[in-house]
Amino acid sequence: MTGSKRVLLAKPRGYCAGVDRAVQTVEEALKLYGAPIYVRKEIVHNKHVVSTLQAKGAIFVEENEEVPEGATVVFSAHGVAPEVHEQAAARSLKAIDATCPLVTKVHQEARRFAAEDYDILLIGHEGHEEVIGTAGEAPAHIQLVDGPEGVDKVTVRDPAKVVWLSQTTLSVDETLETVARLKTKLPLLMSPPSDDICYATSNRQDAVKAMAPNCDVVLVVGSQNSSNSQRLREVAVDAGARAGYLIDYASEIQDEWLAGATTVGVTSGASVPDELVMEVLDHLAARDFTDVAEITTAQEKLVFSLPQELKRDMKASA
Ligand code: SF4
Repeated sequence: MTGSKRVLLAKPRGYCAGVDRAVQTVEEALKLYGAPIYVRKEIVHNKHVVSTLQAKGAIFVEENEEVPEGATVVFSAHGVAPEVHEQAAARSLKAIDATCPLVTKVHQEARRFAAEDYDILLIGHEGHEEVIGTAGEAPAHIQLVDGPEGVDKVTVRDPAKVVWLSQTTLSVDETLETVARLKTKLPLLMSPPSDDICYATSNRQDAVKAMAPNCDVVLVVGSQNSSNSQRLREVAVDAGARAGYLIDYASEIQDEWLAGATTVGVTSGASVPDELVMEVLDHLAARDFTDVAEITTAQEKLVFSLPQELKRDMKASA
C-alpha cells in the first residue's frame, strides 16, 4: 500500500455560459410546451447531456425534415446556416435558436466581411457543425483552413482584402501557428475585430497548461465529438503530461492508465456537467488518489440570457 496520491483539478472546467444556456433552453421548452421537443443536432456535444434530455422528452434529429410540421425545434449551441432557419419557416416549425451568442458574433463578422466583399479564411475543423453554420452565412466568400497544413491550399482574389475568422473551440496555440503561416503567405491579412476563440475555450486550455506539467496523467471528461474537449487532451500532452485520456464516464478509466502515477490531473470540456467530474474524483479516491487540489487560473462569471423567443413565451404563460 502506497501513501495518498494527488489529484490536480483544473478550474475553470466544465459548463460554459453558452452550454448552460442551451441546455436550459431545452429544459425550459420542455416545461413550457410539453414533450416532445425536437432538437436539431446534439444540443451540445456531450453524451450524458443528450441522454438526460432524451429521458425528459427531447427528440434529437439531424435535419428539420424529421420534425413534424408545426412542431417546436431547438437549434443547437453550435449555430446554423441561414438556410436552416428558412427550411424551418417553410415547414411552419416553431424554431428556438440556442446558438451560443459567441458563435452568433462570428456569424455577424462573416456577414459583415462578405458584404464588404472580403475573402474570408475560416480556420476550423472540416465537417464540424459550427463551421458548417458559419460558412453557410456567406458560402461564396468563405474558405475553410483546417489547421496549419491547410494554408498551402488557400487562394484569394485580392491579397489586400482578406480576413481570417475562426471556430470558437480551437487550440489557441495551433490557431496562432495557422495565422502566422497565413500572414507569411498573405502579409495584408486582417484579423477579426475581437478573438473568435471564446473565453471558455481559452480559459480551460490555460488551466490545463498550468496543471499538466505537474501531472503524470491527465483525464479530460468530455465526449469524442466535443472539439474543445479534444483540444484539452492535446494541450495536456503538449504541456508535459505523460498521457491524456478523453472519457465520458469514470467507468471508462483503465487501471493501467494510472499505473506508476502519483499525480493525476482532471479537467472537463465546456459541455460537461460537473457531476461527471465528481464521479471521476470518487473513482480516483477509491484508488488512493485522495489528496485533491484545485488549480485555478481564472474566475468566470459570464451568464447569457435565454433566447428571446422562449423568454417571450415564458412571460406570456406566467
Ligand atoms: Fe459558447 Fe464558447 Fe461555450 Fe461554445 S464553448 S458554447 S462558443 S461559450
